[in-house]
Amino acid sequence: MRFVILGAPGSGKGTLAAELTKEYKIPHISTGDIFRANIKNKTALGNEAKIYIEQGKLVPDRITISMLNDRIKQDDCNSGFLLDGFPRNISQAEALSKILSEMNSALDGVILAEVSHETIKDRVSARRVCTACGASYNMKYKPPKVENVCDDCSAKVIQRADDDPDTVQIRLNTYEEQTAPLIDFYDKQNLLIHANNETDYHKALDQIREGMKNRGLV
Ligand code: AMP
Repeated sequence: MRFVILGAPGSGKGTLAAELTKEYKIPHISTGDIFRANIKNKTALGNEAKIYIEQGKLVPDRITISMLNDRIKQDDCNSGFLLDGFPRNISQAEALSKILSEMNSALDGVILAEVSHETIKDRVSARRVCTACGASYNMKYKPPKVENVCDDCSAKVIQRADDDPDTVQIRLNTYEEQTAPLIDFYDKQNLLIHANNETDYHKALDQIREGMKNRGLV
């Protein structure tokens, strides 16, 4: 199963992806997480990506596509993967189709996590993440049991630098301008599986499972 999950920043695609990859036993490939790991480890890639990420901009395709190409050619992706945060523009989507067709493969589906911009702004301002394992918290609905300490690994829980309100607005604009056109791109290929993730992610997961069943994928 080769999937992409599409959605605006804060649409909950990371949470949905974490559940789905556990359920279908495929790797969860988040380009945002790969960049953050590189930034933390101060690699050359991380140092370059940091400049763009902190401004809410997309990291240039040259860097992102090559990183993704290397990742999906690793052995754990032989039986599939779920891409979270890639592609983010048409040229990345075209590059992905090309890479997959050179591997005699193709995407099986594109999940679209749908949430209003109002909800996104609320959600992102309450979002906190673990600095070590990446677990995600919401200060309103799912705070860590001990303040600023991860329930899973006890490391420090913080707000992402790019989750401040001004940067979130820039990221939403970037999404509308560059990423939203992918909805039409994949709709034309009849690949979209819609998931309303406005209120309850369990309902969104059910819609995705149903969409997969209808396509004969599970
Ligand atoms: P995310 O965790 O998916 O919200 O990604 C965090 C940030 O990483 C984004 O705001 C971008 O700056 C960068 N990023 C992640 N994925 C991509 C991508 N496919 N293309 C360009 N930049 C990306």
